[in-house]
Amino acid sequence: MADKIQSVRGMNDILPTQTPYWQAIETALKQVLSRYGYQEIRFPIVEKTVLFSRAIGEVTDIVEKEMYTFEDRNGDMLTLRPEGTAGCLRAAMQNSLLDQPQRLWYMGPMFRHERPQKGRYRQFHQVGVEAYGFAGPDIDAEMIMMTARLWQRLNVTGLTLQLNSLGTIEARQAYRVVLIAYFEAHRDELDEDSLRRLESNPLRILDSKNPAMQALNEGAPKLLDHLDAPSKQEFEQLCTLLDQAGIAYEINPRLVRGLDYYGKTVFEWVTDQLGAQGTVCAGGRYDGLVSQLGGRSSSAIGFAIGIERLLGLLEAMDALPDVGTLDAYLVVVGEQAAARGLLLAEQWRDAMPALKLMIHCGGGSFKSQFKRADKSGAKWALILGDDEIAQQEVGVKTLATGEQETIAWADLPRKLTL
Ligand code: ATP
Ligand code: MG
Repeated sequence: MADKIQSVRGMNDILPTQTPYWQAIETALKQVLSRYGYQEIRFPIVEKTVLFSRAIGEVTDIVEKEMYTFEDRNGDMLTLRPEGTAGCLRAAMQNSLLDQPQRLWYMGPMFRHERPQKGRYRQFHQVGVEAYGFAGPDIDAEMIMMTARLWQRLNVTGLTLQLNSLGTIEARQAYRVVLIAYFEAHRDELDEDSLRRLESNPLRILDSKNPAMQALNEGAPKLLDHLDAPSKQEFEQLCTLLDQAGIAYEINPRLVRGLDYYGKTVFEWVTDQLGAQGTVCAGGRYDGLVSQLGGRSSSAIGFAIGIERLLGLLEAMDALPDVGTLDAYLVVVGEQAAARGLLLAEQWRDAMPALKLMIHCGGGSFKSQFKRADKSGAKWALILGDDEIAQQEVGVKTLATGEQETIAWADLPRKLTL
């Protein structure tokens, strides 16, 4: 016998028992986003590799070691998108969307070759939100308020908002010098990754996930203390807007984010309920990226929510959304009932637009069909046999109580309170 083929490690099937929760989350997200005037954009899952290396930064975890990159049959280097910001901006630029301000969102799979563990997969899903052409900090506040509304809508509690400002490029360059001096003085405490980053991208050291680097990072000089005056003022304005909206936050001076395109506002919503994979939503401002990708300089800000992590949190909180179940399961005993049942089911679906009705297919005894009805999760079993057809009636059994009655076909819409 041939070997059974397994899925790629870290790439999960999302099974029918789970998809209702995905759909509920997606619906909630779409509703909240559309209430703020954000519009959906869809762009390819594969892009030219250079888009990501230039946008995300050569010396980042993603570009150094996490991208799924391959040469296609034309010899072009292509990459499965590890995130959406670069592709979204590429699409907006290519299609002249940046001529006016834009509020956009997208949803879909992302790919990173990381070590799979709970909350960290090689194919995972993000909802991403991006706004172009707004200098902020009003839009920064809007985005954060929008995420807060979403948590409320989904009954998510226990998320903490962490906030920082990375300032302008000039401020970061000045800070870089101070930071290098600090880490140079502690060279013997740096791990291998950090040593390498010391030359290439010292800010990245602050993003280290290595617990052994924690204390050293905590003692490092803070970027917030080296901010340029305009960034500092904007950051204070953002904090005031959040205060006025009653949104609590923690200022985390070590929050730098894993991608190089960020400047000024950065934020994360984190939970302590998911272990090391505690960041559910992350984002920030990336004004420099448009010109970095060859466009006319423009403001840009965005965030992404990791859907697996959001679901994991809802599960951990025992707060998975209510998902609709089947209303009725139609048991059809006998050949005549099977054929007639199909037509009746259509008529009932016409008469009751909200009705979720599954008909038994494939024959079988009354008993075996009833077992299916029980398993289906339906509220009612509807029973159709030769007698019922002769009388133009249908048996209606409330599965939770066992209560049963027989009613005329035409009366069914009155009986089934949906
Ligand atoms: P982390 O620090 O956890 O590696 P990141 O900074 O790499 O996250 P982003 O690139 O900002 O994450 O992605 C935004 C969100 O997408 C994260 O906050 C997280 O919720 C989710 N995410 C990122 N990588 C993964 C992954 N490999 N598996 C599942 N979700 C992920
Ligand atoms: Mg990461």
